[in-house]
Amino acid sequence: MENLKDTRKDIRSLTLEHLRDYFVEQGEKAFRGNQIYEWLWKKGAHSFDDMTNLSMSTREFLEEHFVINHIRVDDMQRSSDGTIKNAVKLHDGLTVESVMIPTPTRTTACVSSQVGCSLNCEFCATARLKRMRNLNPDEIYDQVVAIDQQSRSYYNRPLSNVVFMGMGEPLMNYNNVIKSIEKITGNDGLGMSPKRITLSTSGVPKMIKKLADDGPKFNLALSLHSAIDEKRTKIMPFNEQFPLADIKEALKYWYDTTGTRVTYEYVVWKGINDQMEDVDALVKFCKVIPCKVNIIEYNSIDDARFEQADQSVIDMYEHELERNRIVVNIRRSRGKDIDAACGQLANKSSQ
Ligand code: SAH
Repeated sequence: MENLKDTRKDIRSLTLEHLRDYFVEQGEKAFRGNQIYEWLWKKGAHSFDDMTNLSMSTREFLEEHFVINHIRVDDMQRSSDGTIKNAVKLHDGLTVESVMIPTPTRTTACVSSQVGCSLNCEFCATARLKRMRNLNPDEIYDQVVAIDQQSRSYYNRPLSNVVFMGMGEPLMNYNNVIKSIEKITGNDGLGMSPKRITLSTSGVPKMIKKLADDGPKFNLALSLHSAIDEKRTKIMPFNEQFPLADIKEALKYWYDTTGTRVTYEYVVWKGINDQMEDVDALVKFCKVIPCKVNIIEYNSIDDARFEQADQSVIDMYEHELERNRIVVNIRRSRGKDIDAACGQLANKSSQ
């Protein structure tokens, strides 16, 4: 018996229509499907036993035919700045991390889209993990729901923003990420405004164009880090396949199609992109479409090649960008002491 493979279907892979049809096929009322759907998505039920308005026999029937592959927050670490990092256990035993970032006025959830990552950014801890698989829409959605609950219990307020800036490359798990956003924004889910969601990509031109065609209402960020091909290829080797010219073309397409500006994420490292030619190249890149630049602090991942540039260089970037009327924000890291900051997610606590 023990060796028999569990062939039960993940009930959350079914849409509301599927569920309604399924119950009609079983000779029940379609309404049963609505009830279960609500338990699964609005009320976050982890087991069929939680579905108290269903009869015992319906619950047993469901248990026989389906599973609920819910995530489990296995471990939580709290930073001195209030940031919380969650080790999220998936139904097959794999782990990803998610982060809750509170500020005085808002709570942001930073979620993962893949287990590991297939890109190989030299400065990112997640890149050292093998990409194991894509997350399902419900596994992404669950991370957001868990952080919404944490925000309610720690700060007495709901989650206000979601960023796809955890582990993985969201545009390489396109369909599932889009489905998760539909749930996060949908009235059958959290009902959040898409304007409060940002998807960050390292720059997959074909997928940026596809996303533009799909008419998203959420924000797009691009991890740029250098606007000079040779330099970008050194620190983000996949830039060889997706050079800046292709990214620029995709960004133009994005702007022509959606009319919304893009945020460029940029870290400045000593001896890598701390020269005037780097600033000039960035300013030029910023003229391709309307944009905003977030200069983010480098979070150390124990690699001697990378070191945060001096403050005077950051000031030079800020000054030149502003002189060219480009919006620039200098971002401080959050959660560094628990390895929860950008680029530090690597399942350290769960290994
Ligand atoms: N793969 C997507 C989503 C990850 S977002 C992307 O690349 O955009 C994580 C952000 O943190 C990216 O902007 C990434 O370039 C940046 N990052 C990675 N390692 C970092 C580090 N050590 N310090 C600061 N930022 C880092």
